[in-house]
Amino acid sequence: MKLVFATNNQNKVNEIKSLIGNGVEILSLKDIGCNEELSETQETLEENALQKASYVADKYGVNCFADDTGLEVESLNGAPGVYSARYAGMECKAEDNMTKVLAELDGKENRAAKFRTIVALILNGEKHSFEGKIDGSITRSKSGSDGFGYDPIFQPNGFDMTFSEMSMSQKNAISHRGKAVAKLVAFLKA
Ligand code: IMP
Repeated sequence: MKLVFATNNQNKVNEIKSLIGNGVEILSLKDIGCNEELSETQETLEENALQKASYVADKYGVNCFADDTGLEVESLNGAPGVYSARYAGMECKAEDNMTKVLAELDGKENRAAKFRTIVALILNGEKHSFEGKIDGSITRSKSGSDGFGYDPIFQPNGFDMTFSEMSMSQKNAISHRGKAVAKLVAFLKA
């Protein structure tokens, strides 16, 4: 089976290829000749994931899935949440987002946070969605050089290292996206 992953983030494509196994061939947007930046203008992760998957499925006539992820920090009332990608401004870099989160948590005792991913799948015109979460905390400074996004400041519960200090397979085994994709894979296999 061929399935398009509606993302321009090559890190995510690599992560998912390593999770999904041989039965499903994952195509990137580039593979189907789509060079657009997909809109995600909704108020929730669920709606954003569906917006991206539906756009690609409709325009290119393919089976397709998209994900949307948010970092939800307890003492910031769930922020950055659905605004995680552009928390420090529209053109910001991951570094800026992390710096902003660290500054806002300065002096706060409660550093609990979670990553939440929604995967929306359009398969033969039908919509499905899968959720994955991981609880952890925001570290006091950035640590590690692997991964992407907020990885250097997120330490999953039960580990003494950040996502950024883990190998990709270690991260995938426990991560929000790993769990959501595991549900997607189980669904596709069934
Ligand atoms: P999106 O799922 O691409 O919309 O991601 C939203 C924001 O969360 C972006 O700033 C990403 O860099 C960040 N993000 C998504 N997944 C991860 C992850 O696994 N680790 C760290 N940051 C992530």
